[in-house]
Amino acid sequence: MIYLDYQATTPLAPEVVAAMTPWLDKFANPHSPSRWGREAAAAIAVARAAVDRAIGLPGDTSIFTGSATEAINLAIKGTFERSTRRKLVTVATEHAAVLDTAEWLQDQGVDVVRLPVGRDGIVDIEAARLAIDADTALVAAMLVNNEIGVLQPVAELARLARGAGALMLCDAVQGLGRVAIPDGCDLVAVSAHKIHGPKGIGALWVREGTQVAPLVHGGGQERGLRSGTLSPMLCAGFGAAAKLAAERRDADRQHVEQLWSAALEALGPGWTLNGSSEQRYRGNLNLRRDGLDAARLLADLRDIAFSLGSACASGSGRPSHVLRAIGLSDAQARGSIRLGFGRYTREEELVDACRRIAATARAQQDLAA
Ligand code: PLP
Repeated sequence: MIYLDYQATTPLAPEVVAAMTPWLDKFANPHSPSRWGREAAAAIAVARAAVDRAIGLPGDTSIFTGSATEAINLAIKGTFERSTRRKLVTVATEHAAVLDTAEWLQDQGVDVVRLPVGRDGIVDIEAARLAIDADTALVAAMLVNNEIGVLQPVAELARLARGAGALMLCDAVQGLGRVAIPDGCDLVAVSAHKIHGPKGIGALWVREGTQVAPLVHGGGQERGLRSGTLSPMLCAGFGAAAKLAAERRDADRQHVEQLWSAALEALGPGWTLNGSSEQRYRGNLNLRRDGLDAARLLADLRDIAFSLGSACASGSGRPSHVLRAIGLSDAQARGSIRLGFGRYTREEELVDACRRIAATARAQQDLAA
């Protein structure tokens, strides 16, 4: 199997496995005062510091959650619970964790603005300027799009949010360790399994003094914002993954740049990149080809793990909302594939997969002609 689905999830780093293993059979509750409990709490503190360093914003203020989806729900619903303002401004190409939470809030009477994007996938900043006003409680935007890899101008959106007295939530799930997180954010959601850490743990970085109400009530373990006993094993894994991501940032970027060029060369002509070619993370190659039946391509190449769009949209039969938002027709969306690669992708396997993808796509076309 050649794994080219790094936006869906990433392979565990060996260092992460090593950091987690001792905690499999150490069962202490990190919130209890025993020596064992304190040892577990200390491991969690080290992990938290590593996650905060990878996020790179001032203050050691992230809280652990069960996923980035939970972190995003907490940030959005928690903000509206505390604010008297009634408007949420977000972007049409956000992840379902943001868009579905926004829809839920809309049913509760919140005014939701979904900003359009251009053909390059970048948000219309003029529309943002018009939408963000004195009634806006929160602006929510992702750093790197999970489907097409484009970078949103989060710093600029954060400036607009701050100017209007609103909070800025950045979904940095696909950007952590790859793209700097802008300073103006008040809330930042991240996930371990996208940076070679374990599934089942995310974090929400919360700027000091930001007013957010908890979603999950109970023991208040995470600064009163999130209750539930933390898993030292998952925290240790996330911490190790975050430490590696920060240390290997330049090396990972260089590797990804190299892979990007090799993949394009191996695929050959006839493909069009979806989204901006400059303002993007190059570990995400979302391409379309005229007349391609991408679902059939996926079925014909079962030993290559790649995707039709987002992991969530794949299999649902619905064309991706992101590909629609950048103006693609249904046929173009159905002719699009996403190749995701990164730290552990070897150039030879990527080139091999891309040549086979190109050959199978050409064969489809020959058959149709
Ligand atoms: N935001 C983005 C941009 C994502 O790609 C994902 C995962 O697909 C999420 C949020 C949700 O993350 P998690 O799997 O930790 O809930």
